[in-house]
Amino acid sequence: MKNNLNKYLKNHGFEQMRLKAVFFDMDGVLYDSMKNHAIAWVKASEDYNLGMSENDVYMNEGRTGFSTVDIFTQKQFGRNTSEEEVEEIYLCKMGYYNTLPEAQPMPGALSLLKQIKNDGFQIVLVTGSGQHSLLERLNHDYPDIFHSDLMVTGFDVKYGKPDPEPYLMAMQKAAVRPWEAMVVENAPLGVRSAVGAGAFTVACNTGPLPDTVFDDENANLILPSLQSLSDCWPVLRDTLS
Ligand code: CA
Repeated sequence: MKNNLNKYLKNHGFEQMRLKAVFFDMDGVLYDSMKNHAIAWVKASEDYNLGMSENDVYMNEGRTGFSTVDIFTQKQFGRNTSEEEVEEIYLCKMGYYNTLPEAQPMPGALSLLKQIKNDGFQIVLVTGSGQHSLLERLNHDYPDIFHSDLMVTGFDVKYGKPDPEPYLMAMQKAAVRPWEAMVVENAPLGVRSAVGAGAFTVACNTGPLPDTVFDDENANLILPSLQSLSDCWPVLRDTLS
C-alpha cells in the first residue's frame, strides 16, 4: 500500500495525502448491475445495428447515453447521432434493462461503507445515472450512508466521465482537495475521470475486463472485489490518513 501511495504522490506532485472523503461510483460498485446493463445495451444495439459487443459496453461504461450512442453511430454509419435517435435507443435499452431481475447490492459494499462511516470520513456518490428513485433505493440498501447534498448524478454534470468534471464536482461538494479524496470505481473511463481529478483511485475489477485496462488508466490500486477492499480497508485507511 505504501508503494501505491508513493507512486500516486509522485504522479500528481503532491507532498502528502490526508484522507477526508471517499467517493463511490454506483453501477458495478454499489450494485451488481453491469451484467444487466451489458445485456440490455447489446440487445438494443442489435435492434439498431450499432455493432456493440459486451466488451464494448464494459470499455465504454461511465459515458453518458448520448456519447455512447454517438461513438457507435460514427463507427457503424460514419455520421453523428441526434438527440431524438439517442432518446429512442436509450428508451429501447432501458426497456430491455427493466425486464431483467433487479440488480442486487454488491457483496462487501455495505461492510466497507459502514467502516468508512464509523471512521468519520465523508461518503459521496458519483454516478452518471439519472434515476429519480436512486436515493430511495440507496437508503433502503445502505441505510444512513448517503445524503442528497453529497451526490453527483447524471443531472448535475455537463460532460460526464471520462472527463474529470464529476469527481471535481464531488470534491467541491465535500469541500476537499484532491489529496484528501479516494475514489472507488469499476470502469476504465471512471478511473480516467477520477485520476484526472487527482484523487487516489481504487479500481475494483468486478467485471470481465483484464486488470491491465485499469493499469493503463493509472489506477492507484487494483482489487478484484468490493469484499477485498472492505477486508483491506483498515490498512488502506492508515496508509492514506
Ligand atoms: Ca461503474
